[in-house]
Amino acid sequence: MKNYLISKAHLYNKEKEKAKKLVENKIIELRDTTPNIRFEHNKLAELEINKFFYNSETVDRVMIVLRANGCEHYKKNGGCSMCSHFNGTDRNALITTQDYIEQWESIINGTGIEKENSSFDINDYPVVCVYNLGSLLNENEISKEAVQYIFESLNKFEGVKKVIIESRAEYVTDDTLKNIKNVYNNGIVEVGIGVESTNKEIREICHHKGLDNFEYIEKAIDTLHRYNFKALAYINFKPIFLTEQEAIDDAIQTAIDCFKMGFDAISIEPTSLQNYSLANHLYEMGQYRVPWLWSIRDIVKGIYEQMNVNKLDIRLGGYFDEEVLSGSQGVGFEEKNEIFPHMTSLNCNKCSRKFIECIKNFNMTYDINALYEIENCDRCYKIWQDTKEIKDSRSIIERVSDILGDND
Ligand code: SF4
Ligand SMILES: [Zn+2]
Repeated sequence: MKNYLISKAHLYNKEKEKAKKLVENKIIELRDTTPNIRFEHNKLAELEINKFFYNSETVDRVMIVLRANGCEHYKKNGGCSMCSHFNGTDRNALITTQDYIEQWESIINGTGIEKENSSFDINDYPVVCVYNLGSLLNENEISKEAVQYIFESLNKFEGVKKVIIESRAEYVTDDTLKNIKNVYNNGIVEVGIGVESTNKEIREICHHKGLDNFEYIEKAIDTLHRYNFKALAYINFKPIFLTEQEAIDDAIQTAIDCFKMGFDAISIEPTSLQNYSLANHLYEMGQYRVPWLWSIRDIVKGIYEQMNVNKLDIRLGGYFDEEVLSGSQGVGFEEKNEIFPHMTSLNCNKCSRKFIECIKNFNMTYDINALYEIENCDRCYKIWQDTKEIKDSRSIIERVSDILGDND
């Protein structure tokens, strides 16, 4: 019996590795077709503003995306299946510490603000997000000197109360946090970590997260809290290969697990489509639909019902009409810059805009009632309900093999 179980586990692992490899190979194949654009190294990728809920009130937030060297995970293994931040990085040459500093100074002195007649002052923004299309705590992506320069500069602005950065869990260490703590003490620092799913099979095959060892996450939360930093979990909602209902259930379970593990906040990130991602490729093959907005409400409701608490720090991510001050933005999705998704989660034409307003209101209040300020749409609500009934009897591994395997 024991031998039988061992060989069953062995077989499963073999099949799992095969599925992972199929996913990885396809991602790498798509990366290889991505145009290699030469970007100006001292110019920001993007700067945009929107509203945020902080300390029980709605405040202004600025999101700064540095033109960066890009995520090590996609350089080594192709990266995650839903992500194409790769499109916005320069693979011809290195962004240096000096380049990062010049980008940062262009925000502070205003020369990097492209929108005409904008009187941008970072001190007017209680919440500042600084992103680098990857991990801000990974020295191979951005030097410790550059990170320290940015935080030393932020420390001079009394109006800035909270700084949010992003990093994969493995780079959250005493060393990288000290580097910030030594120069920044005027506000809170929150580090967003891509968890995506606490279900290993989903995370490793569907997301291709490259985070087999979940201990990194637990260690990162602990390290962050020792430095009085906040831990934010990013949860990708609806990776490829899952049905709508499976994806809803996975997001709810992951959110609950994250809160139980000690994350201070979670952000539900519905998959959006960027060019050259595997998610986009499957969409083009007719094998994927972006998540329904209605489902997002199911997730928030599910988390509250199962956690049985009144107020949680739950955010709903995605690109929803921010005001863009810098970044090569054109008119309409197609002309927007290389990191902007061409499709975000949606319902139908009749009700999507209204639902996005509900999401914005939710993000400004964290009040779940904001997600109910919309009537059930006569065009799509029933379709969404029927979609949730769709079952797939195949295992995830079988789905991968059917869609990406060579079916000779
Ligand atoms: S989601 Fe994060 S870890 Fe994954 S490829 Fe994109 S930047 Fe890298
Ligand atoms: Zn509708």
